Amino acid sequence: MTERFTGSFTQQEQIPQAGIDAALAVLRHGRLHRYNTAPGEISETALLEQEFAALMGVPYCLAVASGGYAMATALRAVGVGHGDPVLSNAFTLAPVPGAIAAVGAVPVFVGVTEGLTIDLDDLAAKLPLARVLLLSHMRGHICDMERLMAMCDAAGVTVIEDCAHTMGAAWAGRASGTYGAVGCFSCQTYKHVNSGEGGLLIASDPDIAARAIMLSGSYMLYDRHLASPPPAAFERVKYETPNISGRMDNLRAAILRPQLRDLETQCTRWNDRHGALCDGLTGVPGLTLIDRPEQERIVGSSFQFLLLDWADAAVRQVVARCAARGVELKWFGASEPVGFTSRYDSWRYVDTPAMPATDRILAGIVDMRVPLTFSIEDCALIARIIRAEVGAVWQAQSAAGTGA
Ligand SMILES: *Cc1c(COP(=O)(O)O)cnc(C)c1O
Repeated sequence: MTERFTGSFTQQEQIPQAGIDAALAVLRHGRLHRYNTAPGEISETALLEQEFAALMGVPYCLAVASGGYAMATALRAVGVGHGDPVLSNAFTLAPVPGAIAAVGAVPVFVGVTEGLTIDLDDLAAKLPLARVLLLSHMRGHICDMERLMAMCDAAGVTVIEDCAHTMGAAWAGRASGTYGAVGCFSCQTYKHVNSGEGGLLIASDPDIAARAIMLSGSYMLYDRHLASPPPAAFERVKYETPNISGRMDNLRAAILRPQLRDLETQCTRWNDRHGALCDGLTGVPGLTLIDRPEQERIVGSSFQFLLLDWADAAVRQVVARCAARGVELKWFGASEPVGFTSRYDSWRYVDTPAMPATDRILAGIVDMRVPLTFSIEDCALIARIIRAEVGAVWQAQSAAGTGA
């Protein structure tokens, strides 16, 4: 019997009951705008910021409309302006170069390793070209953060972390998002907490935090924030910082607060599923699992493997054969972007030289979402299907002598 998987790769869990109850309370009182508070009331948004700052162990947090908005705001808050080059990953998703373009700056792409992290040698060569690095922990793969920070500090390059895939993750015991000057998170449905849309920005520098809060559209109501710098920091920036509205509202914050309390548990559940996929795909000829360094604390909300140096047609066959059995794989090697799998050469508003070493890795990256609606047994089944289909195509290639 041929096994098939029938689950949905895009179906998340329901919002926890505490989030539903809190959302209904906000809807009933009607004060959805974060600065619309009754006398003595503290808004859900301000509380969310306070709780996320405490969770991350940083003094300042700002909740905003999206992860992409958080990144553009971070770039503005550290002083990136029109025409400035900004370093970023060649392997990431479209909102990352999009945030750089949003502030009129110019992405300079840095290559990717077989570990799916930023290539630190390529970065070393390109550090003199820019003052800021927007570092994307794409699909939760974290590079050697100590080495990266030492390199960037020595070169005077400010680091902004894109933690859309690393909320709850860490490097060497320190939370992802707390290494750089700013950490940016997404609360969009496919990330680690779900309010449909939303973003969180964290920082430890009072001036950066004050500018971010002013930028987000706080008018002169910044004293209603809890995880914010002292008034003196706002005095320094308030007349010079434009209002570029992108606030979060109390409804989303209400939905998110209970999810933050569950984050640790959810991360463990993701990692159990990720582990089942790894176990089921160990030792498949032609299939390379991604090495995870010991210092990395992962959140396995997605899964990647490499079909390195395979012919395009063979990878396409694997994807098609898995799809026929209900397993949705995304391939970053296709010549045309499909769904979210665009890559540095799809972003043609940037004039970028070819990156052959990176192209080789991208051509092999196969990617899969792992929503928590999947059981451990679902993940074992998915692994059996991938193992069988990769095996079948690999054997056919070898038999034909074409070399996969
Ligand atoms: C989703 C995502 C973002 C931005 O998040 P939005 O909230 O959708 O704007 C940034 N970086 C990466 C890698 C993402 O996947």
